Amino acid sequence: MLKTQSVTKSDKLADVLYDIRGPVLSEAYRLEAQGMTVQHLNIGNPAPFGFSASEAVRQSIAHHLKEAQGYCESKGILPAREAIQHHYQQQGIKISSIEDIYIGNGVSELIVISMQALLNSGDEVLIPAPDYPLWTAAVRLSGGTPVHYRCDERADWQPDVADIRRKIGRRTRGIVIINPNNPTGSLYSQPLLEEIIELATRHRLIILGDEIYDQVIYDDHPFVSVGLLCKESLCLLFNGLSKNYRACGYRAGWMVLCGNTAGIDDYQEGLNMLSNMRLCSNVPSQFAIAVALQQPNEIRSLVAPGGRLYQQRETALRLLADIEGLSCVMPRATFYLFPRLDQERFNLTSDIQFAFDLLRQAHILVVQGSGFNCPDREHFRMVFLPTVQELEHSFTKLQAFLKSYRQHDHTTY
Ligand code: PLP
Repeated sequence: MLKTQSVTKSDKLADVLYDIRGPVLSEAYRLEAQGMTVQHLNIGNPAPFGFSASEAVRQSIAHHLKEAQGYCESKGILPAREAIQHHYQQQGIKISSIEDIYIGNGVSELIVISMQALLNSGDEVLIPAPDYPLWTAAVRLSGGTPVHYRCDERADWQPDVADIRRKIGRRTRGIVIINPNNPTGSLYSQPLLEEIIELATRHRLIILGDEIYDQVIYDDHPFVSVGLLCKESLCLLFNGLSKNYRACGYRAGWMVLCGNTAGIDDYQEGLNMLSNMRLCSNVPSQFAIAVALQQPNEIRSLVAPGGRLYQQRETALRLLADIEGLSCVMPRATFYLFPRLDQERFNLTSDIQFAFDLLRQAHILVVQGSGFNCPDREHFRMVFLPTVQELEHSFTKLQAFLKSYRQHDHTTY
């Protein structure tokens, strides 16, 4: 008989969290295997809801398959990097050299590379709370310490600059700005960004601007890139095809270095080494980048009044407003709602328990707020990617579930 082997995971993963695909999703898969139909409102993946990348973007990949068989330069194919450079130049953001552009398997890979190259054990990075949890996870995995700054729900989830100021310390190396924000859908004003940049400059912090939703914006609210305002500090901007171009599965993202790039040679050597070590990112998808950036993006019509995303946001907010015990700040961007549950009414002590209960009883899959490093236990995130009809169906079930929901004092999941 074979002896049982105990194989344990690395200690490095002890505090790493990524609950967008965590235990509640595993439970959903288990229930689906038993025949349950689950409405997946947990992940910002437009394709399964019938959103599509443009025909030209799709064709560009098919068209170049033959050329894309070999490894390419580790930072990415030249036409794609040139198109990225031009794209930023048009916005007034100067990328001095094509060597300051890195293409990755989605922004995800580049977030990890940027942190692995930067952090020594105990170095701190300021990250919004709530956040897109990969940032916190990448800092931990890199031996750093994530320090969360508060975003204020009562102020449309804007970052609390006083809190940022308080949390800057001797070991702080950088500050992450997720704008537009996942999970809250908030969008930051120019004066607010300027205040944060001023602090970062004073304390010599690197600015890490995750702007992957910069075209998924409603009501003509203006978007200002942190890269446009940042002159005296190093700024890394992250973006890609996943959200604006509805092509998450192509895994095409980029990272650019802008702002003050003087004196960064050593850090860049680290970035280059890590980029080289993974050889290159998926080559066929890189051929879609120039095509995507050079054409008018259909996202404009999706977020305009009458457009599908606009209508779905309106529907979701209207239906949510009718549910007692739920409230939600209106998202100005993205395709997420981050509603608050009335803690007293539902006797809430655990948001993950809430997510399990909602899944098992109403067959709706969401992500608990703590999965986004939200300090309280009263929030959850859901996407408004389903059609209006599907949203109506889900909200009817959510309303029925919440009508009688009271959380038990002990956790059962
Ligand atoms: N950054 C934010 C804020 C996100 O919401 C996501 C995905 O949801 C990512 C980065 C990762 O994007 P990618 O698909 O390019 O890896």
